[in-house]
Amino acid sequence: MFDKIVIANRGEIALRILRACRELGVKVVAVHSEADRDLKHVRLADESVCIGPASSIDSYLNIPAIISAAEVTDAEAIHPGYGFLSENADFSEKVKQSGFVFIGPNADTIRMMGDKISAKKAMIAAGVPCVPGDNTPLGDDNKTNLKLAQEIGYPVIIKAAGGGGGRGMRTVHTEAALINAISMTKAEAGSAFGNPTVYMEKFLEDPRHIEFQVMADSHGNAIHLGERDCSMQRRHQKVVEEAPAPGITEAQRKAIGERCARACVEIGYLGAGTFEFLYEKGEFFFIEMNTRVQVEHPVTEMVTGFDIVKEQLRIAYGEKLSITQDQVKMQGHAIECRLNAEDPKTFMPCPGTIDQFHMPGGPGIRCETHIYNGYKVPPYYDSMIGKLIAHGENRQSAIARMNTALSELIIDGIKTNIPLQQDIMNDSGFAAGSQNIHYLEKKLGIT
Ligand code: ADP
Repeated sequence: MFDKIVIANRGEIALRILRACRELGVKVVAVHSEADRDLKHVRLADESVCIGPASSIDSYLNIPAIISAAEVTDAEAIHPGYGFLSENADFSEKVKQSGFVFIGPNADTIRMMGDKISAKKAMIAAGVPCVPGDNTPLGDDNKTNLKLAQEIGYPVIIKAAGGGGGRGMRTVHTEAALINAISMTKAEAGSAFGNPTVYMEKFLEDPRHIEFQVMADSHGNAIHLGERDCSMQRRHQKVVEEAPAPGITEAQRKAIGERCARACVEIGYLGAGTFEFLYEKGEFFFIEMNTRVQVEHPVTEMVTGFDIVKEQLRIAYGEKLSITQDQVKMQGHAIECRLNAEDPKTFMPCPGTIDQFHMPGGPGIRCETHIYNGYKVPPYYDSMIGKLIAHGENRQSAIARMNTALSELIIDGIKTNIPLQQDIMNDSGFAAGSQNIHYLEKKLGIT
């Protein structure tokens, strides 16, 4: 195993990776911004290097600074976590060129999957079902675009090929709105992602978001670890995730999961990845692949008993997958509530000092967070400050355990979305399960 790695991230995921390293006997170098000296994993790491000022551009997105940190500490590999540089192909490439191991797929794979058009093309070639649409960049010819939309059938969605984080897409219901929507999405995509390429696909009106976790090694093996339902969303961002997805049959899991695993082998995928699908009327439609560990990976870990982050390290070191598909067994149900430092009603971020933090416990409860008493949530980064995960023998028991855990959880001094999560856990529609991606916004009165 590696002797020492750099964790090029912050917050709860950096701590999660540190814990996996500890189990494997790997030393940890924490890189952090000037605003993050007091992060829990920085304090726990074997070594730490300040890589720049608070702003992410100058620190967590600063490729030369991160690579220099690996050089001066004599580390062997870099784990990018999620967000920041985790899906940056140039970063993966530069890490490798500098003589380090990037804990993730190679640059070509990240590049292919980072462009939603080439990702869809690769998936079609691998037999993975995709959202109907035209998988080519939209040109400037209005007539051609209008004809295309007519062929696909309204509503359609215009999506940025390089988009991410739920941004860079626009739904179009009528012919009258199409041309303007295309030029606006192009302009936005250009300024937000540095790539104005957009494409058109069918807008699915009431889908669920269901995604499959995969892991692939460098020896031509790949497995899937089942699916997660992430339909509880606000502004295309996940709020609650669970595994397995309610109502998905073993036969569906096997059919789609195995196709994803096969696609991994075909594209030479390496490490942990997620195939995201929209699921409507019993059918799966691929939307994109995430080439990194995801925020919601713990729900899969809880139902499979398999440590995804440790396996990422083993695979990056060149080892074979430690289990075969037959050994993947699912047990019970797991739910994750994202904990955000934000106003539960207006969703405005709410940084500040945590006066009091009390972590819940009990059977099946897992709390992934870097916060502690007196920790100051900085205003510079994502407002997610942790995740609460509840595992039970079935969905009902997982919800009951989550409810108890939320009632025990105390985060004082800042506003958090705990009341919103309690509201969701006590909602009859959520209890029924299988809600679509619009459910939460409708419930909240946002449409
Ligand atoms: P991102 O990379 O920004 O996360 P995705 O392609 O994964 O973008 O889409 C994010 C969310 O946007 C989905 O979970 C879904 O809510 C919505 N969405 C994307 N494509 C479609 C579509 N064709 N029809 C309906 N909703 C869609």
